[in-house]
Amino acid sequence: MSNPFAPPTGGFGGGASSGAIVTGQAWAEGPLLVTSTVATLPDGCVVCGGEGHQRVKGPIQWIPLWVRLSILLSPLIMIVLMVIFRRQAVVDYGLCEEHFQRRNRMRIGGGIALVAGMILMFGSIALIDALEGGAFGFMLVGLVILLGGAIALGRFAAPLMPKHIDREYARFTGVHPAYLDRLPPWTGG
Ligand SMILES: [Zn+2]
Repeated sequence: MSNPFAPPTGGFGGGASSGAIVTGQAWAEGPLLVTSTVATLPDGCVVCGGEGHQRVKGPIQWIPLWVRLSILLSPLIMIVLMVIFRRQAVVDYGLCEEHFQRRNRMRIGGGIALVAGMILMFGSIALIDALEGGAFGFMLVGLVILLGGAIALGRFAAPLMPKHIDREYARFTGVHPAYLDRLPPWTGG
């Protein structure tokens, strides 16, 4: 079975020219950014609408809310559902220097917080006998750090927040109105 999410081998004009306006890949739909699932966005910072000096490209995943909520049943069930129901878009977009640096800091900080939170949580579960009553406190602190890391990664390290992704199009929030103003309005279905 071929991977439907694999980027096209033809590319979009190569890395050096990325940022050039490519029509038919990005639109504005009210406050939402609509893109094809593989898209190169016009120049400019998507966060503040200012000049974009950095380009970022990467897969952005979207997982339906009900799949994320299934973690309440079991993390294992959620992981299985995630593999089946997640959708992905590969978007090449611009950021200004400030928002590029913030993204990088949040990626590093968020990643560290996730790992530290997990170590604290699972560590306190493993040492529950030795820690006695203290284990619950450590678990709670671990959970808070874990959630903080997830928010840093989900909100600030990923400026484009997927609202919905299907096999053809992706819709994102978090894009500055001044940037959306420069895009053609969405007229598709
Ligand atoms: Zn910016």
